[in-house]
Amino acid sequence: MKPLVLFWHRRDLRTHDNVGLAAAVSSGHPVAGFFCFDRSILDHLPVDDRRIGFIHSELQRVSQEYQAAGGTLLTQYGSPLEMLQSTVKELAESGWSVVAIHTNRDYAPYPVKRDSEVASWCNQEGLTFQTHDDHVILPPEAVLKDDGLPYTVFTPYSRKWHKTLEAAERRPLEEAKVTLKGHTAPLTKKSGHLPSLSDMGFDGQVATPSQWQAFAKRKPDPDVLVKYAERRDTPSVVGTSRMSLHLRFGTVSVRSLAKQGFQKSEKWLTELIWREFYQAILHHFPHSASDAFRAKYDRIPWRHDDAHFSAWCAGKTGYPMVDAGMRELNATGFMHNRVRMVVASFLCKHLLLDWRLGERYFAEKLLDFELASNVGGWQWASGSGCDAAPYFRVFNPESQLKKFDPKGAYVQKWVPEWGTPAYPEPIVEHKMARQRAIDTYKAALAGA
Ligand SMILES: Cc1cc2nc3c(=O)[nH]c(=O)nc-3n(C[C@H](O)[C@H](O)[C@H](O)COP(=O)(O)OP(=O)(O)OC[C@H]3O[C@@H](n4cnc5c(N)ncnc54)[C@H](O)[C@@H]3O)c2cc1C
Repeated sequence: MKPLVLFWHRRDLRTHDNVGLAAAVSSGHPVAGFFCFDRSILDHLPVDDRRIGFIHSELQRVSQEYQAAGGTLLTQYGSPLEMLQSTVKELAESGWSVVAIHTNRDYAPYPVKRDSEVASWCNQEGLTFQTHDDHVILPPEAVLKDDGLPYTVFTPYSRKWHKTLEAAERRPLEEAKVTLKGHTAPLTKKSGHLPSLSDMGFDGQVATPSQWQAFAKRKPDPDVLVKYAERRDTPSVVGTSRMSLHLRFGTVSVRSLAKQGFQKSEKWLTELIWREFYQAILHHFPHSASDAFRAKYDRIPWRHDDAHFSAWCAGKTGYPMVDAGMRELNATGFMHNRVRMVVASFLCKHLLLDWRLGERYFAEKLLDFELASNVGGWQWASGSGCDAAPYFRVFNPESQLKKFDPKGAYVQKWVPEWGTPAYPEPIVEHKMARQRAIDTYKAALAGA
């Protein structure tokens, strides 16, 4: 039997600058790539989910990269543990003995559980299971307070993040070089070919690049980075990098982006650190995926109002900035960060609807949906998160419009009937809704 190492791709759909793949290659044994479309996730997605189209299209590219180096990307559809088991068995039947599986860590609750099950099976089978940190510059346990506890406030976390990186002489920013050529296995595959989207029950149309137009570029525009601090809050211009989808699926390396942040925009680098902060929060406090980070916020008696929720989803609340944001989301799978804050605050405060409803709606619609940042953003808006906005600070959607879209360019793009009789009246009156939110929060938090 010839020894073989598998590299399991998950949030890292690339063969360059990849810590785990570089480690697999340096093991000295031939390497094959592995990816599993996880049915426990896919079975809950609509047939036209654009993220699956994106993943599928990226896997074709990754597969070609393996092929160009004389290797193979094995792709399966099912439960990752079962698919790894059957792949290892099938490879053994064709003379390859898998000696190790390498993969990059994913810090969210479900992947942590999945990986620990895979690790136990590998242990029983005498296979090495090795995980690596690739998805972030500094993993959750690398940035802790002096007493060893996790940070729950961003500013000191960010300070420690910089201090830790400098103490490591910025080595975590270095490219993890991968040379696949000469290190791959010439597998003769029986199974493991890329399943088609329709094989998995999805609409094939979702795999066209126009579906993720908002994220068309793979490199941040240098001009956007240089002007980031002044333009990041203007939704009518492309003043942010649009890297979130690529960071989510690892189609770009966070190391290459962070280096650009150091060179071109400290403010932008800070956003990448926010991303790592939220990854760390979810990792250390997994309950926050579904419960309020600060438990007393789960005492808020959220309203139940299907009509208001539907109006919010459809972008028909009568508040132009909210409606433009929701329509941008529904049409493109993207929403500008400033507008995400406005629509989220509107749902939790003006409509007094449970933040989890909004979080799940974003999870369905955002191409860049990422549990840690989404939950972090929603709990920030609802006031229940770590380092969140105080509950009594209620965004005024009209003032936000005047400040961040003074000429109405963003609103006009997404709400063409704005200013005509066809545009709906506000579904709630601002003054009343603001006071209702403050009174309700105050009473609930006081334990009344
Ligand atoms: C309610 C709400 C929900 C959100 N849900 C998500 C989500 O599911 N996935 C997601 O990636 N981001 C989420 N964000 C954060 C932010 O809105 C997006 O990352 C950003 O709009 C993506 O656009 P960009 O790539 O042009 O960002 P840029 O402004 O160019 O920022 C660069 C990168 O930094 C990271 N980043 C920026 N802002 C934040 C932030 N506030 N929190 C964490 N990371 C940040 C992202 O990875 C982003 O790609 C959410 C924010 C809010 C308020």
